[in-house]
Amino acid sequence: MKLGAIEAGGTKFVCGIATENGEILERVSFPTEEPAITLEKVFNFFKDKGVSAIGVGSFGPIDPNPESETYGYITKTPKKYWSDFNLIGELQKNLNVPMAFDTDVNGAALGEATWGAAKGLENCLYLTIGTGIGGGVLASGKLIHGMLHPEMGHIFVRRHSEDTYVGKCSFHNDCLEGLAAGPAIEERWGVKAYELPIDHKAWEIEAYYIAQALVSYILTVSPEKIILGGGVMKQLQLFPLIRRNVKKILNNYVQTKNILENIDDYIVPPGLGDNAGLLGSIALAMNI
Ligand code: ADP
Ligand code: ZN
Repeated sequence: MKLGAIEAGGTKFVCGIATENGEILERVSFPTEEPAITLEKVFNFFKDKGVSAIGVGSFGPIDPNPESETYGYITKTPKKYWSDFNLIGELQKNLNVPMAFDTDVNGAALGEATWGAAKGLENCLYLTIGTGIGGGVLASGKLIHGMLHPEMGHIFVRRHSEDTYVGKCSFHNDCLEGLAAGPAIEERWGVKAYELPIDHKAWEIEAYYIAQALVSYILTVSPEKIILGGGVMKQLQLFPLIRRNVKKILNNYVQTKNILENIDDYIVPPGLGDNAGLLGSIALAMNI
């Protein structure tokens, strides 16, 4: 069986084809432009490919509720041209196969639980720290949607004592995303994030914010594994800093081996590497 995947990102779209074993057969990527131009490329890719279903993992906010009138829409986004866009409706017009629709991070959480770092687990969290911050949660084997879908990047954290940066979130200024997503790091320090030396103060501040958020997620949804992806997490020196801060903030309150003894294996990079998003969408397609 061949399954299709669309990873609809704010900066790029990735389309792919894979087997139900997670073996990627084909993959293409192109920049996200106006919807018509972008979708034309999607249609051309899938034409005559014979996929039996397509999973779509999208940047948000989206409406993933099949009962809703605006199911399949990207809802209110600052991303030009894409606000209130009926993504699944437009895809269905041209690609006449069953489709699954969810947030990119919910897809990635499911993909990691199927083939990656959380393989075999029923409870995991996937957090991306890139242009924005977003999280997807698998709880008791099901992806959490609730009333809409979680918006885990917009929670509030305590300020680092040496951080006077105002914050970049257009809704909340200094929420987690406003303080710790890639664009916030770059505006705070005035250079590209990848140009900051690995021992720069920026990473200590970054780890402090991410760790606080992880503590909140540990305390509220109790994941068995936390997977951190996205461009900012290419800075692997963040992992030990984040783990140390999580332990310090929790202060032995949560008495699990995962945290007290095996934290190196508890807060980890994606097992699927750069394919976490694409295989996440394949996992969504298998879930139909
Ligand atoms: P998106 O969130 O658009 O899907 P990414 O997850 O790649 O894409 O995030 C892009 C952001 O991540 C950039 O704005 C940049 O700030 C940051 N970033 C990308 N690569 C690196 C890197 N190697 N080191 C640190 N930050 C990075
Ligand atoms: Zn916010």
